[in-house]
Amino acid sequence: MTNEPGTYVGDGEPTVDASLRDRPAELLQELIRFDTTNPPGAERACIEWAAELLADAGIDSELYAKKPERPSLVARLPGGDAPALMLYGHVDVVPTSDQAWTHPPFSGVEDDGYVWGRGALDMKSGVAMFVAAFLRAAQEEIDLAGDLVLCLLPDEEAGGDDGAAFLVEEHPELFEDVDYALGEFGGYPMELAGARLYPVQVNEKQVCWIRVSATGNAGHASRPSRGDAVGRIGEALVTLDRERLPYHLTPPVEEMLDRMAEQVGEETAAVLRGLKDPATVDESLAALGDEAGTFEALLHNTANATILSGGDKINVVPARAEFTVDSRLLPGQTDEDVAAELRELLGDGVDVEVERFESGPEETELGLFPLLDDVLRDADEEAVPVPYVLPAATDGRIFARAGVQSYGFTPMNLPSEFDFQSLVHAADERIPVDAVEFGTDAVYDVVRRYDRAVK
Ligand SMILES: [Zn+2]
Repeated sequence: MTNEPGTYVGDGEPTVDASLRDRPAELLQELIRFDTTNPPGAERACIEWAAELLADAGIDSELYAKKPERPSLVARLPGGDAPALMLYGHVDVVPTSDQAWTHPPFSGVEDDGYVWGRGALDMKSGVAMFVAAFLRAAQEEIDLAGDLVLCLLPDEEAGGDDGAAFLVEEHPELFEDVDYALGEFGGYPMELAGARLYPVQVNEKQVCWIRVSATGNAGHASRPSRGDAVGRIGEALVTLDRERLPYHLTPPVEEMLDRMAEQVGEETAAVLRGLKDPATVDESLAALGDEAGTFEALLHNTANATILSGGDKINVVPARAEFTVDSRLLPGQTDEDVAAELRELLGDGVDVEVERFESGPEETELGLFPLLDDVLRDADEEAVPVPYVLPAATDGRIFARAGVQSYGFTPMNLPSEFDFQSLVHAADERIPVDAVEFGTDAVYDVVRRYDRAVK
């Protein structure tokens, strides 16, 4: 294992052209062409390519790796005495198996005004924006109020153990002076009953992995078998599919709903306020149309069955069957809370065990939000930025342990017909070329305007 950082410096023979900073969509195409499907990730070639790009601009970067094939990159531009600002993103992507793509997912094709490929949204486009903005800041020699840190990571999609968690645990000194960071998700429109909101993630749900199992009589499959392991697991699956876990209104979500309600018309505001009352929540969710699923996830712990197993021989009734549950908890909820909810819902026929729980950020610090708000409104006059709790998890939860408040800020001026949610992690993931440029300009604007006054 190479725990010691390696330094990348320019060798006078650039293999990658730093002028890509001015063509961030092309930069994105290059990033997509590295197949960083996680597992296994194998992000080294992609990370080294980024190090070469920085080296061509005369910027040294340090690589830190828990596993040699999966380094993280950290680079820093010196600034004044204000707290450092960090830009971070992950270069790994989720698998593409069993998906039908119009263009091969790692070809990085530009077609019809879009860059296509796995990672076009999550989140090689964000990485392209951050790298391009960082290079621009270096090239323009802007007067940075504090250091500007760039951090590119492996392994976000599988939990971050080899990426952000390794860095925060083994090299916490890297983040000592960092108060705020830009990462995923946010800065692009959410159409909500006619309002063009730009959610900016400031908190997120927590990941809890659970195993639900049943045991019963094993035996020869030629004899009738009822109520055994497989049947009870089947019942639990059906229940999980039909029912919802209990309603909770948590403080960060309440603040988000209040801020959203202040920014939208009276009719939408009434719907948002309706979400704050268990008596009216269902009616309000129904009124939200396409966004209902997002808000449902922000008002409940969720639990989806993912991997099913049981039996290994076709003529033997198995003594044990099980499934895993990917559960996402609201801020402030614990693994014990959700396990109790699942036991209550699924009954005595199955066992519920927590396999892994990572608690997420507790507090939200909104000191950088006004600047992000200004930048987005300058970039899109219809933008109504709002702080947002993400119904999923990102590396933000890990950096929170190092005292870093993350903001989901990879801005994209997506047209209203563009369905972001249905393309992330799915076939034909793509991003308008224009949106990559919009985001790069907005991130650069934050870097330029970030000053001592923000906190
Ligand atoms: Zn991501």
